[in-house]
Amino acid sequence: MAQNHGSPPRDGDRAGEAPLSRAQAQRGAQWQKSRLAYQRREARGSDRALPSGSYHVAVVGGGASGMAAALAAVEALAAAGVQPRVAVLERQNRVGRKLLATGNGRCNLSNASAGDLSHYHGGVALAGPILARWTPQAIRRFFSQLGLETVADQEGRIYPATDQAASVVDALRLTLQERGVQVLTSFQVQALRPPASGRPFFALEGLDGRQVLAGRVVLCCGGPAGEKVGGTALGHALLAGLGHAITPMRPALCQLRVPPQAVKGLKGLKYRGDIQLLEAGQPVQRERGEVLFTDYGVSGIAAMALCRRAAQGLDQGKALAVRLALCPAVWASPQALARRQAALPRRALEDFLTGLLPRLLGRHMLKLAGISDLSAPAEALSAQDLERLSGLLLGWTLPLTGTQPLAAAQVTAGGADTAQFWPHTLESRLCPGLFAAGELLDIDGDCGGFNLHWAWASGLSAGQAAGAGK
Ligand SMILES: Cc1cc2nc3c(=O)[nH]c(=O)nc-3n(C[C@H](O)[C@H](O)[C@H](O)COP(=O)(O)OP(=O)(O)OC[C@H]3O[C@@H](n4cnc5c(N)ncnc54)[C@H](O)[C@@H]3O)c2cc1C
Repeated sequence: MAQNHGSPPRDGDRAGEAPLSRAQAQRGAQWQKSRLAYQRREARGSDRALPSGSYHVAVVGGGASGMAAALAAVEALAAAGVQPRVAVLERQNRVGRKLLATGNGRCNLSNASAGDLSHYHGGVALAGPILARWTPQAIRRFFSQLGLETVADQEGRIYPATDQAASVVDALRLTLQERGVQVLTSFQVQALRPPASGRPFFALEGLDGRQVLAGRVVLCCGGPAGEKVGGTALGHALLAGLGHAITPMRPALCQLRVPPQAVKGLKGLKYRGDIQLLEAGQPVQRERGEVLFTDYGVSGIAAMALCRRAAQGLDQGKALAVRLALCPAVWASPQALARRQAALPRRALEDFLTGLLPRLLGRHMLKLAGISDLSAPAEALSAQDLERLSGLLLGWTLPLTGTQPLAAAQVTAGGADTAQFWPHTLESRLCPGLFAAGELLDIDGDCGGFNLHWAWASGLSAGQAAGAGK
């Protein structure tokens, strides 16, 4: 884990960044002064006698990025010859609650392609140097050092060898304990005050009145997606209170809504094929994979992958639709259906598509094609019937009426504006000594382990920089 990427940033990192306003710069300079006083104490060794209830580094949020950040901070502090005092403050009654729900309880924790920036969205420029350093191999090594072995499936998705998300949480939780990290649960940080003159520490105030002081703070509060497993925008409120900009937050990776009558009776049926997002009738994104019908629309990995762009388009008032290709042309072109008809002339129409699609879905498509007598034999279909049916099987277009709300999504698109953080260290450009990582930042990844990869990689980078305290 040990590699130093502490701030201040390299000259090259400053290129292309938005200048801070005068007020932001002045406030940042004041905070920096107090922080330097703290650093001088630390350099003299006086910090080893930290006031009680205070820490070198406090990590807010005991999720994926927070636990990784705390471990990296401990290692960096120890490498600097300091007896580490690191705390994780978690508002829920246990750490890693969302992690337990990931990957349907299997935790798809990374992906062999996680270094490829095209899988990430939002303020991706900030992610580049971090992902270049924390490759999938490096993340697997990190977990191996915690005693957790991992395996990759044929599509490059990386899981714990046990296939259990609980093993990932256990490995992190046990290591935090072994390395002396203080985990304070049911501690919801409600206010965060930067160092001020006479108080060289950050003050973190809990909802229940508890207070923690820390030389540096890493915010790892996640985003509002996955509300049932702890998703919240509290971290964004803390950052906004310090002058940070928050880009609009929308659901990424969630179910899509279509008129319910169009999919009535299909709940629970699936197909493997194509799904496209259409803007003003034109395809703008295409995904392949499993699509699952629900009582209000479509779900499944391929459908959920369209959510990010769909939510943005809907906000912009665009007319959106989804086009489902239920079968490939080799089985569903008019010619292929005519061959099927010739081969199965006596088969009742209600079963004409059985073997290509789930039976109920096949019947639904025949009805949509205007074929009402499903007890008739397949030979009764006219050439026009086959044309219409083929058109639907290759491209059933449904208007998109919405997405599931952000609270029900797996991931948040948008968040803390990445232009206000230094690359490599993820230290705030507005508030020195404050770092951020994970989904809290305006960076989200594709389905397949990319979001957790970002959480580990950014948590490790920010935690290490906070521990190194440069
Ligand atoms: C159902 C589901 C399945 C998913 N499956 C996968 C998957 O298989 N692979 C994948 O890559 N991604 C998956 N994701 C996404 C992934 O879980 C997140 O992107 C990732 O957990 C983000 O990590 P994080 O550390 O930023 O935030 P989180 O893991 O959400 O952790 C944030 C923590 O901060 C705490 N917190 C927030 N505010 C405060 C505060 N003010 N004070 C104290 N504590 C606070 C929260 O309680 C929480 O524990 C899934 C998400 C969901 C909801």
